[in-house]
Amino acid sequence: MILASPERINAVRAAAAALTPVVLDLTARIAAVAAPTNDEGDRSRFVEQLFAAEGLVPQRDSIGDVVATIPGRLPAAAGTKTLLIAAHLDTVFVKKTPLEITKTPDRLTGPGIGDNSVAVATIVKLAQVLSMSGEASAVDVLVTGNVGEEGLGNLRGIRQVLSDRPEVGAVVALEGHNLGRVTHVAVGSCRYRIVATGPGGHSWGDFGKPNAIHALAKLISELDAIPLPRVPKTTLNVGTIEGGVSVNSIAPTASCLLDLRSTDEPALQRLSERVVRLAGHNSRIDGVSFRLETIGERPAGVVAADSPIVRIAARTLDVLGVDPSFDASSTDANVPIAMGIPAICIGLTSGGNVHRTDEYIEVAPVANGIAQLALLTLALSELLAARAI
Ligand SMILES: [Zn+2]
Repeated sequence: MILASPERINAVRAAAAALTPVVLDLTARIAAVAAPTNDEGDRSRFVEQLFAAEGLVPQRDSIGDVVATIPGRLPAAAGTKTLLIAAHLDTVFVKKTPLEITKTPDRLTGPGIGDNSVAVATIVKLAQVLSMSGEASAVDVLVTGNVGEEGLGNLRGIRQVLSDRPEVGAVVALEGHNLGRVTHVAVGSCRYRIVATGPGGHSWGDFGKPNAIHALAKLISELDAIPLPRVPKTTLNVGTIEGGVSVNSIAPTASCLLDLRSTDEPALQRLSERVVRLAGHNSRIDGVSFRLETIGERPAGVVAADSPIVRIAARTLDVLGVDPSFDASSTDANVPIAMGIPAICIGLTSGGNVHRTDEYIEVAPVANGIAQLALLTLALSELLAARAI
């Protein structure tokens, strides 16, 4: 295992602890800039300035991803791969949400504080953590504040960053919450809007004409009857339903949002094909026609539990006295994992009330979270330089 000596680990821990107040201050400033998914421009420009203030040379792409390079100490040989550290910029909060951040010695509280402002602040300061520790990564490390991770962002930011940079050889997605997580199983999803359309009419005078709500209800019960494997875990959920015009009208339209998930890409595709057969274009129930719109697709995949990236992430946590927990989730790591690039998602601290306006993070674990990222960066960059990943 390529992990630094105890002396070097202590130097990284000391630098992480010394810079923690700066990271927390930056976290509050980043969280104060609105960044709803698909409208991240303000925060993206702010983070571009923060990278520049660190002496890095950020690049901002057309959708708002900001990428900076922390130069490695080895001259780039032909075919050398780089490491990408990704922290998403976007939040689930609409633009008018009041972004009040409160601080106590133990906690920072505010919308998006841990998901994902503290992670963005940490990647901004990563270069300084390394230099203060007297360390440099072996190969170049790319750090990105990327757009489009939450909800209907559909992971478009990380997709763009990776498609622009074929030299990336490993990816660490960074999230503020759940220090200790090593997410190496990517939960894939397909999300659809199903729209049912019929003729409408008066509930009494036109009784007998097709009703879009009745037909959609029958369709949903057919979807609900699809058998789903427990292993690999595969799920189907109708999350919202709406439609109709009044109590005494035959509903002319109705629609629902459907979320399909699996840890296994073929299982997800099989389920998706079945849904398309039942609810796709030209399908009808009782004279009501259905239309299916894709509103999100996230690929599934697995990085083996005994692969170098997972083992080093676990070892790094061990060294810092944190118990690793291996899990499956939907994160920016889904995209590289599905592309066959070794990738994981890790957390920085503990906290709670994620996706609520009273979200909070605990201050105490942050220094360990920062040290974890720095040590993992050094170890993975050694593996990439040795072409051992
Ligand atoms: Zn997040």
